[in-house]
Amino acid sequence: MSIIEFRNVSKSFGDFEVLKDIDFSVEEGEVVVIIGPSGSGKSTLLRCINALEDISSGELVVDGIRVHDEKADLNRLRTEIGFVFQQFNLYPHMTVAQNIMLAPMKVRGLSRKEAEERCMRLLERVGIPEQANKYPENLSGGQQQRVAIARALAMEPKIMLFDEPTSALDPEMINEVLEVMVDLARGGMTMVVVTHEMGFARRVADRVVFMDEGRILEEGTPEHFFENPENERARRFLDRIL
Ligand code: ADP
Ligand code: MG
Repeated sequence: MSIIEFRNVSKSFGDFEVLKDIDFSVEEGEVVVIIGPSGSGKSTLLRCINALEDISSGELVVDGIRVHDEKADLNRLRTEIGFVFQQFNLYPHMTVAQNIMLAPMKVRGLSRKEAEERCMRLLERVGIPEQANKYPENLSGGQQQRVAIARALAMEPKIMLFDEPTSALDPEMINEVLEVMVDLARGGMTMVVVTHEMGFARRVADRVVFMDEGRILEEGTPEHFFENPENERARRFLDRIL
């Protein structure tokens, strides 16, 4: 069974249907990149996965949890999913280490020492162990985003969702964040990534999905997608961004 499965999912905000009849699944260990114009429903689709948005119809099953079900254990669902946003969303009044240690101690029940060890291991992994005791405002954007990734990983999630994680960064900081994501992808993490970074998609995506106006119009391997997209709107979109 797929770790994420949308079956005929639709989602409306009032009269406006933002997701239309979405059939989409992700296998464990798969890296899926979602692209598409602004307003096409990419963020909404991601937010449905960890129930930040509810769905209007259809079925959505994530890690065996029927997300749309009233009785779904959404707290459990969310502990299994790491979410990295465009705006890093770190707690400004906490140090880097405190940001990373908070949820593992509170939610996973780790001791302070265990959480500290995990935190330092993750800061090594994202390449900024020397920043542990600084406050977010004293870090660059690229460093803050790497902290946000480390914080998400500290919960040992099964799935990582990324919503345009490099869009708010100065160009010279994009690569340091993408390298961390490439490392994660190669390590076998299940990832769904909304991004305009086509180099990243080519390097690590197992599958690229193109959305427009609330629908998935095309999906395939990066090779297929970039060399020979069948959908006319996908072609036009690629012409504009490549
Ligand atoms: P994308 O991430 O592809 O840019 P979004 O999922 O953010 O697209 O938004 C898709 C559409 O849904 C947009 O037209 C947006 O204005 C609309 N939308 C998103 N969130 C809400 C909301 N909370 N209420 C009403 N409309 C929304
Ligand atoms: Mg968006």
